[in-house]
Amino acid sequence: MLIDQLNFKLVNIECMPTSTKFNAIVDIEVDIGHLLPYLATVIRGCTYIDGTGELNYMEGGHIIAIRSRQITVTALSDEAEARQVCKELRNMINQVDKQRESITPTLRKHARLDPLTVYRELPGTNCGECGETTCMAFAARVVSRELKASTCKILLGKEYNRQRGRLRQMLEQAEYDLH
Ligand code: SF4
Repeated sequence: MLIDQLNFKLVNIECMPTSTKFNAIVDIEVDIGHLLPYLATVIRGCTYIDGTGELNYMEGGHIIAIRSRQITVTALSDEAEARQVCKELRNMINQVDKQRESITPTLRKHARLDPLTVYRELPGTNCGECGETTCMAFAARVVSRELKASTCKILLGKEYNRQRGRLRQMLEQAEYDLH
């Protein structure tokens, strides 16, 4: 096993002093720089350019940045969530290390979507049926992989066929789960 344990410390989000969320700084006991191109292949929707020494992606509302000796994870609720995210990261990195001979490395990948682009394809009625107060809030949660676009049932209406098609295409290109 490449990584036995990931140790982390939680820090306050400096630019948002009233926030109840934390960021985690995770130290890695070994250098995993050589694994970044393999992780770039496996991690859906990540951004990676070989030579920068950093891979970024969004998962479950967190922005995760992986570097050779450190990982940062944003917007964590508490230590228990940080521990769970660290465990999943450790398992994923160990798995990629174990299988890397069968993985084709990726040297350049940019699959990030922005909320406004997603919002433009939504009905824009702010009806709240998805559980969000506005379509823009929904778009932000889709981009951060907290919600699937299919949660918006209004978009399934015939009148939104074209928007749905365009949204499906952009989500597929950015390696998002559709359902
Ligand atoms: S259900 Fe769809 S249309 Fe209604 S607020 Fe959510 S995203 Fe907007």
